[in-house]
Amino acid sequence: MENLGLLTIIVPCYNEEAVLPETVKELGVILQKLISNGEIAATSKLLFVNDGSHDKTWQLITNYEKKYDFVTGIKFSRNFGHQNALLAGMTTAVEYSDMMITIDADLQDDVKAIYEMVAKYNQGYDVVYGVRSKRQTDTFFKRQSALAFYSLMKHMGVEMVPNSADYRLMSKRAVQALLKFKERNLFLRGMVPLVGYPSAKVYYERKERFAGESKYPLSKMLKFAFDGISSFSTVPIRMIMSLGLIVILISIGLLVFTFIQWLRGVVISGWSSLMISIWFLGGVQLVCVSVIGEYVGKIFKETKQRPRFTIEEDNYTPKFKENEQKFRD
Ligand code: UDP
Ligand code: MG
Repeated sequence: MENLGLLTIIVPCYNEEAVLPETVKELGVILQKLISNGEIAATSKLLFVNDGSHDKTWQLITNYEKKYDFVTGIKFSRNFGHQNALLAGMTTAVEYSDMMITIDADLQDDVKAIYEMVAKYNQGYDVVYGVRSKRQTDTFFKRQSALAFYSLMKHMGVEMVPNSADYRLMSKRAVQALLKFKERNLFLRGMVPLVGYPSAKVYYERKERFAGESKYPLSKMLKFAFDGISSFSTVPIRMIMSLGLIVILISIGLLVFTFIQWLRGVVISGWSSLMISIWFLGGVQLVCVSVIGEYVGKIFKETKQRPRFTIEEDNYTPKFKENEQKFRD
């Protein structure tokens, strides 16, 4: 028998008790089908990453682990965020997996695209991006804000695959390369294209969340977007430089104007221009300082080299260790 690739599907979960049973069912069906079609190894797994849920998510996961051999889970000691959950999943799975797929727990991304992703992997692609062909089910606001975000990122010089989120397949070596990125401010959809390796796209339609509600309210979305920009691009610094130059040009003009006024002997009426300058420059300086502060803040975070997550329980690795043991006996 030829060597079939082992697939691990990584699913980050934060308070997802409402969708989890359906997620296990749908992904389980896909996994079984791929196994029986002889496209992936029979020991392929689902790996749920419980990102500090406050509901019954972890209980559900451990119950499913007992029921099905293909279900495994790891549990964070607290909420570390979606991106860190994805990274933890990949870090845990990479040793035993030949390919890894990351997908949200809420079944918004069409699970059937997994078939195509695996097919592309078997054709030799290392990264397969899931790309949304339509976003009709997203709200008008979410669609527009996403569009604005992608074009902004492009102007900032960050290469991303438009309309792709964190639904993608990566080969073992692609994940190994990704894990060499040591930054703490994770923005995976900007990092993955930097890995390189042959890549392909798979198109699907994005659906409504199956159950539960979005864990990405506007405030979190804006923070994510700003994080993405400031972790990847120094264009804002250059923009401030241009702004500074323009302000200097304006002030030179004002200087000439003031000098002419002085020659003409009209010097009393300087109060308004003075006040305007003080307020204007004060504002500009505050903006500049805050943006520079953002970068200094990031440097500060990076230099601390804190661990990006702490895994409290790992039920994935032992399953494989057991098998290795059996082999030796
Ligand atoms: N998620 C997570 N940690 C968080 C927030 C979200 O692991 O702190 C997971 C969540 O369980 C889901 C995925 O990230 O599987 C995407 O979240 P959600 O569907 O709420 O985002 P949206 O699709 O609304 O952008
Ligand atoms: Mg969602």
